[in-house]
Amino acid sequence: MPLGDKSRSKGIWNNILEKCEKKLVNWKSQYLSLGGRVTLINSVLDALPTYMMSVFHDAIRRNFLWQGNCDPNNHKFHLVKWDQVILSKKEGGLGIRNLKIQNQSLLMKWLWRFASQEQALWKETIKARFGMENLWITNLSTQPYGSGVWRSIRNLWIKFFNKCKIKVRNGGRTLFWEDKWVDQVTLRNRFPILFNMSLQKEATIREMRDNQGWDLRFRRHLNDWEVNKIVELLNILGQYKDLNTDEDNLFWNPDEQGRFSVGSAYRSSQRPDTHIGGWPWKMIWKVKIPLKIACFTWLLANQAALTQHNLMKRGMQICSRCWFCECEVETINHLFLHCREVAKLWQIFINLRGISWTMPRNIKEALACWNRDGNQSGHRERWKIVPACIWWSIWMERNQRCFKNKSCSMQNLKLNCMVLFFFWCKHEYPQDAEDIPSILEFL
Ligand SMILES: [Zn+2]
Repeated sequence: MPLGDKSRSKGIWNNILEKCEKKLVNWKSQYLSLGGRVTLINSVLDALPTYMMSVFHDAIRRNFLWQGNCDPNNHKFHLVKWDQVILSKKEGGLGIRNLKIQNQSLLMKWLWRFASQEQALWKETIKARFGMENLWITNLSTQPYGSGVWRSIRNLWIKFFNKCKIKVRNGGRTLFWEDKWVDQVTLRNRFPILFNMSLQKEATIREMRDNQGWDLRFRRHLNDWEVNKIVELLNILGQYKDLNTDEDNLFWNPDEQGRFSVGSAYRSSQRPDTHIGGWPWKMIWKVKIPLKIACFTWLLANQAALTQHNLMKRGMQICSRCWFCECEVETINHLFLHCREVAKLWQIFINLRGISWTMPRNIKEALACWNRDGNQSGHRERWKIVPACIWWSIWMERNQRCFKNKSCSMQNLKLNCMVLFFFWCKHEYPQDAEDIPSILEFL
């Protein structure tokens, strides 16, 4: 990794960039499934140096996820927006790390150390170099050269400090009016009239105390209607009568104990996206199926698998027709839920349980309903495998028909689906899976 003053210029990173790309070429990623590529991205690429890499890095990861190492001229569609891909699985993404946030979280660790470590040599050096803006942080750097690292860190201060509150000990590092030490709002904002009259606008808490208690001084005598405000303020201050001798500290709000960690900083910075949030995505990831199948289910739930209808939406000139019934448009909801041919696969499992079932409108609803009905099942974990199993069988057969011009009979397709189901059950629950009939019997 190159070090030195020029580390901010882009040219110097080409070397590393090439190394990353070479690494990827060595993996036979054209043979990897989407799930395999997600794993590789999370485990290997992210272990490469991330500092200042995020800009290039995202493009590499994005292409690798959707393109593999295929010839770059052979364009592949990026099926789901990158902004969503880098959300956690719980929030509807693939759990690929957001490097910008990761990087910021790592840098914030230095702000935490700066604010909480006393008399560390590195801290004294930085203090001497930049001067202090307040009791917690240095001035913003205005020098153009040689201070890039601390400048990047210092720029995150407001973002960082907004997630902190001050734990008052001896009151010596906390500004009475201007700092957030009571709840999430400053006393200045909460009592603007009193603040304007105060003669101690810049005082610390310790300076506002004497042996008798709080020593609040104002420019003039208070009017009757202002006395209520004082009473309110004194009530709040009543909780803080015992100052001790320790230094004031920061309390990191995202953590219950108030201690900073890179992980909690990362999680608290991920913005929950309202339009995809809310749906229980764990229904996809908690099911005991191979990762590549779960990723495929995820694509379906996002209406993103490349059916003919989706290809048309992306500008391909084709005539869209379902490969099974040959009369409807091949949308995701038709192919995987509503096609009258495909319904025969669903019927196998529905008949076995003897439930009544009306097919919901889309993939997400279907998953939710299926799992809800499965709650009465003796083997509800197996029951949850069924939709992914049906969908994967349909997709494999559909691709045979579409790309290889081969097809198997509905009878064989049913059989394939059962065998797949059997193998997944056997893999996850080896102790109680003997043969297909006995597995089905106990659904
Ligand atoms: Zn159809």
